[in-house]
Amino acid sequence: MAKKRLVAGNWKMYMADAAEARKFAVGLRRRTRGFSGVEVFLAPPLPFIADIAKALESSPIEVGAQIISAHEDAPHTGEVSGRMLKGAGASFVIVGHSERRASGETNDVVRASLERAVEAGLTPVLCVGEREREADGEHFAFIEAQLSSALNNFPKNLLKKLVVAYEPVWAIGKSSVGAMKAPELEEMVIFVRKTLTDLLDRKAALNIRVLYGGSVEPGNASELLAAGVNGFLVGHASADLNSFVQIIQACK
Ligand code: PEP
Repeated sequence: MAKKRLVAGNWKMYMADAAEARKFAVGLRRRTRGFSGVEVFLAPPLPFIADIAKALESSPIEVGAQIISAHEDAPHTGEVSGRMLKGAGASFVIVGHSERRASGETNDVVRASLERAVEAGLTPVLCVGEREREADGEHFAFIEAQLSSALNNFPKNLLKKLVVAYEPVWAIGKSSVGAMKAPELEEMVIFVRKTLTDLLDRKAALNIRVLYGGSVEPGNASELLAAGVNGFLVGHASADLNSFVQIIQACK
């Protein structure tokens, strides 16, 4: 696996205002200078993207969005296109986050959003994850359906930059105690990779970074990393500078 590890921060609505967001970005840039073994992505809320992209200009930290419109045409109030995101300075976008799915994004919408992201030249970070663990292993079929709906028959050459984030919904927004445990994660990472291999092919699948998300904090980052993930999608801890830097450091 030649690709560098990746730590992506999903700020959700955590920053109070543009000044707080900018201060954080400047601090992050300073404190991660010289971290060469890991890539860092940051997804602020939409109104802050341009400002944060400017604050991080010519640094290796990439700025992205938490949503992208699934629509191809213009008359959709409140929606933001991939082209607009790119124009604001985004280079990646989170697609299919469970909190968006809970607000009504279906697998079809996620697929269309992925298509729009790729068309716009944005790196998609595709989120999948079961709501609950089922004793009969039903969650494997659930993840397989999410991946298959998003990726089946997708031209492989357009997925070179794809990142997959496995985020079990039940583990999101807790403390590190509520996160998935490394042995369970190891099993899921193998399953996600196997499913990607079936949907694409071995070479294309090996090229995809598989992240874990769900209550990653400095205290569990190293242990979870040992489960075979290529990095993390970090929610609440990405809005705390010390925690985020420590998680990035663990992935160096
Ligand atoms: C997320 O929502 O993508 C996430 C991983 O959140 P948290 O780290 O807060 O669980």
